[in-house]
Amino acid sequence: MPQNYQQLVSQDLLTEYCYKKAKLTKALENPQSVEFDMLYALVAKEMAKVDPPLIIPYVEFCISAQCTLKCRDCANFMQHYQGKAKPMDLEAVKSWIVAFVESVDHIMTLRLMGGEPLMQKDFTKLFEFVLTLPKIQHIQIVSNATLVPKDDLLALMANNTKCSFFFSNYGSKLAPKYDAIVKHCLDHGVLVQSTPADISWFDMGDTHDRHLSDEQKAVVYQNCPNNCRHVWNGEFHHCPRSAHAKYLGLIEMPEQDYVPLLELDSATRRERIRKMYDAPFIEACNHCSLSKEELKLVPCAIQVTTQRPKATSNKNASTKRSNNKRK
Ligand code: SF4
Ligand code: SF4
Repeated sequence: MPQNYQQLVSQDLLTEYCYKKAKLTKALENPQSVEFDMLYALVAKEMAKVDPPLIIPYVEFCISAQCTLKCRDCANFMQHYQGKAKPMDLEAVKSWIVAFVESVDHIMTLRLMGGEPLMQKDFTKLFEFVLTLPKIQHIQIVSNATLVPKDDLLALMANNTKCSFFFSNYGSKLAPKYDAIVKHCLDHGVLVQSTPADISWFDMGDTHDRHLSDEQKAVVYQNCPNNCRHVWNGEFHHCPRSAHAKYLGLIEMPEQDYVPLLELDSATRRERIRKMYDAPFIEACNHCSLSKEELKLVPCAIQVTTQRPKATSNKNASTKRSNNKRK
């Protein structure tokens, strides 16, 4: 014979239910209570497991390869454009940003860079647009401090903790207005991150094939101090070398090494972006000198018109160094 209700639902079960309901009612009645907080913590824990958000700690967007300098050892391969870099296409760059932002839940830092982004006549328009995107926590503009930021840009950035400048410092010869530009921004209430002058860069070498096995590529990749994530030409790459070498036809890039943002629907884009973070290596590492065996330092921002001096051995190099992942 089927069990009756009392047999199915014991007094203990009823008591436990009433206890939980009482606690829940109390929690919901008082949003300031500890119980309310605990409830939210429990819900958040479950949500993070069942439907994990895609949070991007850092991503950089190259808006144009045009630059005011021609650094021989530019980690981002700008020197390979050799005067063929095109000005920013505002609508194209906006479309890359929209596609990326649409497919993720939150971006902690988004960097806008070039080349030199302040060369672009529509840069303020682009920046104004990016500022309106609520999923972005912080926007940083990367500049080589050779151009004074325009007043309309500074007005948008003034007293706004959502954005900042990062100024690379290539010394008084290449960036004679460095100190004045930094001061000008600070005087306008703009957040500024600056670097010391005369830093050294890692010499990342040219794009020749190092003939590494997959295991060796994985070692190079895992030991890489750079953690970039770079969007260029509508593609999300792990590293700027990968993005620009592919664009310039210098390295043949396998499909899994990048996400063509504009060619995929939002869900597939999201899946591919997430997957990229777990890649064991990328092909660009087979064309890079940023490995323990090859690691050397060079003075920063040597211009292409000068002779290439012998790179300094890492062992004897100055401690003042930068991973030149950026400029
Ligand atoms: S190519 Fe590989 S090793 Fe070189 S900077 Fe990019 S991720 Fe790092
Ligand atoms: S390192 Fe910076 S300043 Fe030099 S060429 Fe590259 S983007 Fe331009």
